[in-house]
Amino acid sequence: MTAEIEANLQAVRERIAATARRVGRNPAEITLVAVSKTRPVEVIRAAYELGLRDFGENRIEEAETKFGLLPDDIRWHMVGHVQSRKAARAVTPYVLVHSVDRMKLARRLDRFAGEAGRTLPILLEVNVSGEASKYGLHPAEVEPAVEAMRGFEHLRIQGLMTMAPIVPDPEEARPVFVALRALRQRLVQHFPDLDWRHLSMGMTDDFEVAVEEGATIVRIGRAIFGERH
Ligand SMILES: *Cc1c(COP(=O)(O)O)cnc(C)c1O
Repeated sequence: MTAEIEANLQAVRERIAATARRVGRNPAEITLVAVSKTRPVEVIRAAYELGLRDFGENRIEEAETKFGLLPDDIRWHMVGHVQSRKAARAVTPYVLVHSVDRMKLARRLDRFAGEAGRTLPILLEVNVSGEASKYGLHPAEVEPAVEAMRGFEHLRIQGLMTMAPIVPDPEEARPVFVALRALRQRLVQHFPDLDWRHLSMGMTDDFEVAVEEGATIVRIGRAIFGERH
């Protein structure tokens, strides 16, 4: 198991680095988040032993079953939709919540982060492709949302996240990544005092295109751990 993950991980890292260099980017500015949803703790521990520290989960309950069983220097990322009634549980365990997809969730996270005495780093999830099946703010909703969130003292916006549609050819995902980057550019202009450092975009099937288009965080599951069953 470890040998397979090791080979996969090395291949993923090399592909990220090669892609970054090809477009004149420094590979060190791209964070690899290993998406460990559905994977048992032994598999996650094997990846940890190989040096991975950033892991992404998409379900609050499942993540909670793992925290206590794994080293506490793991940086957990919440990448999945968070139901409002579970917002309190999305505050303390995570270094970054990528999936703030509506104002109601932002409001609740702000409140619970305040109660927990911390400032929670978040990304705004944007539904660039407009698919009905996807979560996220419509691109036109982002600026008003940011305007409203400026008053949230316990959230710290650090950028944007998106999921590209599942397409046969990763090139077809490119316009989504281009659009997210363009949206960030507008936000940098309208809100220059806020922090827009991150573009969390790119998964197993499309991460190279995402890196070409400026991803600072890629979220990769299957290319590291194999197919999910
Ligand atoms: C599952 C998931 C990923 C990783 O997907 P792979 O195709 O396994 O790389 C990335 N981001 C989110 C939000 C996910 O739910």
